[in-house]
Amino acid sequence: MEYERKYKEQKPVVAVCYDFDKTLSPDDMQAQGYIQDVGYDVKKFWQESNRLALDNNMDTNLAYMYKMVEEAEGNLVLTKAALAEYGAKVQLFDGVKEWFSRIRKYGEQHNVIVEHYIISSGLKEMIDGTEMARNKEFERIYASSLYFNDRGVAKWPAQAINYTNKTQFLFRIEKGVLDPNDPGVNDYYRPEDIRVPFRNIVYIGDSDTDIPCMKLVNTYGGHSIGVFDPNTNDKSKVFKMLKSNRIKYFVPAVYTEDSPLDKLMKAIIRKTAAYEVLENIYAADKKEADPEYPL
Ligand SMILES: [Mg+2]
Repeated sequence: MEYERKYKEQKPVVAVCYDFDKTLSPDDMQAQGYIQDVGYDVKKFWQESNRLALDNNMDTNLAYMYKMVEEAEGNLVLTKAALAEYGAKVQLFDGVKEWFSRIRKYGEQHNVIVEHYIISSGLKEMIDGTEMARNKEFERIYASSLYFNDRGVAKWPAQAINYTNKTQFLFRIEKGVLDPNDPGVNDYYRPEDIRVPFRNIVYIGDSDTDIPCMKLVNTYGGHSIGVFDPNTNDKSKVFKMLKSNRIKYFVPAVYTEDSPLDKLMKAIIRKTAAYEVLENIYAADKKEADPEYPL
């Protein structure tokens, strides 16, 4: 089996990982067309979906996917194209569309490779329909996804991404073992061979479902950022996450140039550029001191 793998680069890599709902988009992606089209009130849909999970000891993401397939029956045909169309209509926070290439360019100017990754419990087929995904702004989109039968209709979950299994993708990005089925994610890598050490990982999220990722990134010296909705200005979640050491920084979810998030990201890139110069000297010294190195 051939899996796509990435290896350590000459330049440092900063991997910026994003949650999707309420991080890049102000609302849940399912609530921006699909739920309305199957004739549901948004609140009622989530209530019933969460009830299904509770009553059956079911993962909440598997429950919403079941309900999406179930409720589509007789209302619409749940194909990849239909889901991509919903994705294309999803609202985005200010500046999101231009953000990815601008930050990548800023990285280039500082000799840092910037890569963008989505890690979301939402639906991959919808995210695939967004303008950014179609413009190939993302290195990878890790999200829940559906299995489609030979007539192209959604039948079953293919991947269900919940808050704790979100973390496996950080390890994949760290080692460059990107395929979700590649068991190489458990291989041992010497610190010098790790493509994106955790200190160069940035995780941006808004809520509880991001906590395991944020905590992991924070603990290993990376950069966890909490965002809050600039329209409500409700900072209660980010305050709580900062006080419990899940995040280091919080900013409004505004992605335009010179926004606090823009400045923060650029500072992280400049820090990485400077720090990795020292790490390279250290790695070279280690190599010289130990003739057995590399093994
Ligand atoms: Mg979210």
